[in-house]
Amino acid sequence: NVVCVTGASGYIASWIVNFLLQRGYTVRATVRDPSDPKKVEHLLKLNGAKERLHLFKADLLEEGSFDSAIEGCDGVFHTASPVLLHVVKDPEAELIDPAVKGTVNVLGACAKSPSVKRVVLTSSICAVAFSSRPKTPEVVVDETWFSDPQFSHQLKTWQWYAISKTLAEEAAWKFAEKNGVDMVVINPVLVAGPLLQPEVNASVEPILNLINGKKFPNSSFGWVNVKDVAEAHIKAYEIASASGRYCLSERVVHYSELARILNSLYPTLQITTECEDDGHYVPTYQISKEKAKSLGIEFQPLEVSLKETVESFKEKNIVNF
Ligand code: NDP
Repeated sequence: NVVCVTGASGYIASWIVNFLLQRGYTVRATVRDPSDPKKVEHLLKLNGAKERLHLFKADLLEEGSFDSAIEGCDGVFHTASPVLLHVVKDPEAELIDPAVKGTVNVLGACAKSPSVKRVVLTSSICAVAFSSRPKTPEVVVDETWFSDPQFSHQLKTWQWYAISKTLAEEAAWKFAEKNGVDMVVINPVLVAGPLLQPEVNASVEPILNLINGKKFPNSSFGWVNVKDVAEAHIKAYEIASASGRYCLSERVVHYSELARILNSLYPTLQITTECEDDGHYVPTYQISKEKAKSLGIEFQPLEVSLKETVESFKEKNIVNF
């Protein structure tokens, strides 16, 4: 069984590659720069990498770039997409184009290769939960929701990222339906847990910021463990009856709850539980676990994910306490 993972050096993708190698798959891993040790060294060290991991150079914005990596594969995991959660100068060039054109580019390569039986696309809760539909602690968001880019400002600095993910998923469904590509989509919330790659990625940065004493926004976010996310991708590929979208979220919490859990895990940290009050409040809400359960996913509690993240920061000397 030969599969391709795009953006293989990334946080989530590295865990997908790890689990695929453990299960005996041959993995074609696309990266932008295979000569950059920061991007590939951790992959080359994985068990089974020597025998069954093959690196390919590919860029989302280069048409046909993924063709050779995908040709002859049984399955494709398309995870590559820029994750920029801060304010960006040129949203079109930095986020929208690579997300949307890149996704169509990858799906185009899949459509050209008759061997590809299924594509698993990493989308996001950002493509699900942000629309005119109000969210309160009683509301349960599920896979039938689809974000409306007009309401992405609910996410403040993340809005262009959210728009890029929404438009990319929309384009993917259109392309898949038109070209008969069997696609399953994964929609995770913020991902935490151990890092395989050497550098801090965007979704664990809020945890590092809390540890470093930064004030947090008056907002709530969902969290899920990176190993559960990787497992869900592989289940979505292996289980023939898997279809449509799968939201992945262990729990939606306000930042103050995140700070409270971190303080109870690491009492010496004394993280502030006071938030920035800029008049922008995001309440908690619920996210359905029903479809994820049908894949056999049982979510690691947030406490475990936070502990694993912090322990990983310590191991990599990102924090010192
Ligand atoms: P990372 O930043 O760790 O990984 C992103 C990957 O995308 C990197 O491997 C990067 O490659 C690649 N990439 C970015 N731009 C390009 C480009 N122009 N051409 C080729 N590759 C490119 O992020 P995550 O692992 O967190 O995210 C992976 C996927 O999961 C993304 O699609 C993201 O939107 C989605 N996601 C993430 C969540 C999270 O909380 N982490 C939550 C929900 C969804 P390079 O290494 O060369 O820079």
